[in-house]
Amino acid sequence: MSEMMTLPELINVFGDDAKCRRYIERLRWPREITCPRCGKAATAIANRFQYDCDGCHYQFSSTSGTIFHDTHLRLTKWFLATYLLCESKKGMSACQIQRTLGISYKTAWYLCHRIRAAMLEVAPEHLDGTVEIDETYVAGKKRRWRAKGDVQVVIGIRQRNGDLRLIRAKDAKSKTVKEIINANIGGHVEVILTDESTIYPWALDNMQKSKHKTINHTREYAHRDVHTNTVESALSLLKRGIVGTWHRVSAKHLPAYLDEMCFRFNNRKNRFLFRDTLTKLILSPNLEYKHLTAKVQDAA
Ligand SMILES: [Zn+2]
Repeated sequence: MSEMMTLPELINVFGDDAKCRRYIERLRWPREITCPRCGKAATAIANRFQYDCDGCHYQFSSTSGTIFHDTHLRLTKWFLATYLLCESKKGMSACQIQRTLGISYKTAWYLCHRIRAAMLEVAPEHLDGTVEIDETYVAGKKRRWRAKGDVQVVIGIRQRNGDLRLIRAKDAKSKTVKEIINANIGGHVEVILTDESTIYPWALDNMQKSKHKTINHTREYAHRDVHTNTVESALSLLKRGIVGTWHRVSAKHLPAYLDEMCFRFNNRKNRFLFRDTLTKLILSPNLEYKHLTAKVQDAA
């Protein structure tokens, strides 16, 4: 199975655990089944989805050592949750996954975090060409002992016709923004577009300043090619996602939501998103529950 499917197609293709296991086997070992301990070839044990290493005789299954292994959740539900998170443009909350799959809130929450963690992109490349930068403020989760929730700063950087980065910043000061820009923009950038905020002249180095163009939003929203509309639309999608789907996100989990959002956005034309996300789930290190948080009720 390669391209994005409809939900009935998904149920048809991955309707039982054996079908899911066979697919995991193919994604995990595209050429030859090898032992996770010693790397030698392994032989399948008939009808059990178990393998026996030809070298060290370690017996393992297609999910051994993967994120799927120590959960008691059926693989069909893992596949459905992955499909739903890949398909929904604005994201899906743990509450929605709980209701849709008929699982406990705790499991749904854990599942969403694990899928999001797998969606993290490994070493994203620097953005180049024409790059737009903008910032937005997101209301954090309300705390009982505070009248107002924390306000989180999110910096958006978007390469025109290219990838998006959404980064949580500890504040909107030039020094902080400078670090974020340098970590995400490459040396071959041609044009840097921002609004006339006073942050940016201080946040750019001399090379970047020579390529900097600004748009005055009190007068106009675009002057020919000089605009920040594409990054702004991504930031407004983020805000709609947080208000509409996740309600208020705790500061701790905001980076995971931002990464998930970027992953879905940067893969918007990827017809193999479901397969690629599953592959990441299989190959990513097993994220222990205790590393997420002890308090499930803390989650948005
Ligand atoms: Zn072995």
